[in-house]
Amino acid sequence: MAKTLTKKLTINGGRLYAALKDLGKVGAYKDENSGLVGVNRLALTEKEGEGRRLVIKWFKEAGLKVVVDKIGNVYAKREGQDDDLPPLLLGSHIDSVPTAGIFDGCLGVLGALEVVRTLNDHKVATRRPLVIGFFTEEEGCRFGTDMLGSATATGRLKLADAYQIKDRDGLTVRGELEKIGFLGKTELGHIKPRAYMECHIEQGPILRHKGLDIGVVTGVQAISWRELTILGKSAHAGTTPMSFRKDAGVAASRINVKLREMIASGRYGHEMRATMGSWKVNPGMVNIVPNKVICSIDLRNPSDAFMKKVESELDSFIKVVEKEEGVKIEWRSTAKTPLVPFDESVQQLIADTADSLGLSHERILSGAGHDAQEWSHVCPTAMVFVPGEYDGISHNPREFSAERQCTDGVNVLLNASLAFLND
Ligand SMILES: [Zn+2]
Repeated sequence: MAKTLTKKLTINGGRLYAALKDLGKVGAYKDENSGLVGVNRLALTEKEGEGRRLVIKWFKEAGLKVVVDKIGNVYAKREGQDDDLPPLLLGSHIDSVPTAGIFDGCLGVLGALEVVRTLNDHKVATRRPLVIGFFTEEEGCRFGTDMLGSATATGRLKLADAYQIKDRDGLTVRGELEKIGFLGKTELGHIKPRAYMECHIEQGPILRHKGLDIGVVTGVQAISWRELTILGKSAHAGTTPMSFRKDAGVAASRINVKLREMIASGRYGHEMRATMGSWKVNPGMVNIVPNKVICSIDLRNPSDAFMKKVESELDSFIKVVEKEEGVKIEWRSTAKTPLVPFDESVQQLIADTADSLGLSHERILSGAGHDAQEWSHVCPTAMVFVPGEYDGISHNPREFSAERQCTDGVNVLLNASLAFLND
């Protein structure tokens, strides 16, 4: 597939890092808890629109041709000598969780821009075109469906359905795209990439603890999100005997503790993870038994078989809780993706490229979802991870990867890209 390169190009790490910091100013806020400056650039908000326009300005300054598709994904193309060949696609996202750092997603997008800037600096013409993509609502924080843009572009979600999804205030994806000026005209699936690569922070402690420069990502583990609505009965906390209660809060707690017990049992593999991260308790008063809890469950597992087992046993346990606590529990699935393995040949190319640059690396399965998992359904795909400090904390203003770490990752991205661009 890929030709071996004799000469290695290297990026301008200072320029990459400056771009990360500049984009990080859009949506910057002072975090009350840590006193640090974080980023709040929730998808399709005014601030995210501002971030989009800034990155597009940089794309245009680098000579790229920009289009926006019908779900608001942005694609910027650098021409190839044989411009009709399927392009290499590099991408990620610039939307953020409300309490983010400056690296998540942005490293992939601005890393790809740095690849283009480096090719421009060295006046490198490539046979195949290079396209940078950034994709709408990767985080799923605002509209509840992660990888929304890439999943719609690659066919897992239908456009009509994606348009109708509402945020907590009842605002739709379509309406919000229109409001920020990113309801594009380009058809979905307008490009059929030769391959897709994404450089991303690891968002976990493994690479840093092992002292590695690079992670070669083997795939993304299975992910399942649910939203539970538990209906009990409000009652006075002092006058209602315990046997008369239908306490929605107790029901939610029992399910949360059950998940922890399931993990401890080891019967669902040793990598099962479960989190009940969002709780909305009604009426939320100190002296009233809660009549309603809306809560979330986030399940992860590297094995589809174990995930299935977890879900079916959770279903049975929910019925037990309904009966024993006298509550009614309804739930809906808000996200569900199986284990997504990445392309072996692209992984090998990334590993070989890291070797040729003298960078240490290891294969690693991603614990988080990424746009790459969607593109992997349409073309050969893999990812480059870079380590993060403070146990790889992410979705937090403390998120931090040093200039060296980001530079190493993007140098791998650049040189692995050249193999595709000239194949
Ligand atoms: Zn991300």
